[in-house]
Amino acid sequence: MNPIISIVNRSKTVIDADLKRKLLALQKQITRDFEPVWGWGANLRFNAKKFDMQVIVKDTAGKGGFLGFHIKNGKPITYIFAKDDIADSGEYTSTLSHELLEMIADPNVNLYAIGKFRLDGKRKSGFFGLEVCDPVESNFYKIGGVTVSDWVRPEWFEQDHKKGEMKMDHLGVLDAPFTIAEGGFADVLAGSRWHTLRGRKARLKRKRHRLEARKNAAA
Ligand SMILES: [Zn+2]
Repeated sequence: MNPIISIVNRSKTVIDADLKRKLLALQKQITRDFEPVWGWGANLRFNAKKFDMQVIVKDTAGKGGFLGFHIKNGKPITYIFAKDDIADSGEYTSTLSHELLEMIADPNVNLYAIGKFRLDGKRKSGFFGLEVCDPVESNFYKIGGVTVSDWVRPEWFEQDHKKGEMKMDHLGVLDAPFTIAEGGFADVLAGSRWHTLRGRKARLKRKRHRLEARKNAAA
């Protein structure tokens, strides 16, 4: 059975009715698009008391005092900051979609795939975190008028596929494993060093709380 993700609204910017309506589109993304490809789904519930994972919608991350990603009583909890997102891009659902899909794919933020990458002209090999939205985080699509994030398919984490051989992400923006779309990024652990690979024009606006959790887990 799929896990229950409780979405809690602690934002003053987003009203409950709006969030509930948008959860229908996010559920559709998970069930219609993501689950048939990855095999992992989730049941989204607004403000559920019983849950396996939780996403808390707040207004703003504040000055360095945000809680970020953590595990409480064995359950992953993450935060999004709707007021910050709306000020930045006019919507908050692409971030919510991004966090939901990454939470479904790697709830404990500790799964990796070995892949090759280039750094300063050298070919290297490293552990890529199973972050399914980061490489395409600036690519979006709409479901019922609601903006959701693009996401990479399992094949993106399989290094033997040749360029153009198969689809790498839902929208078909990328054409080879471990490549990064414009405005996207990926965190990779090579030896004892973390590198952030950036696509063109990557801004890395998003709070990097999952990276912090990875660093802590791998330390
Ligand atoms: Zn991410």
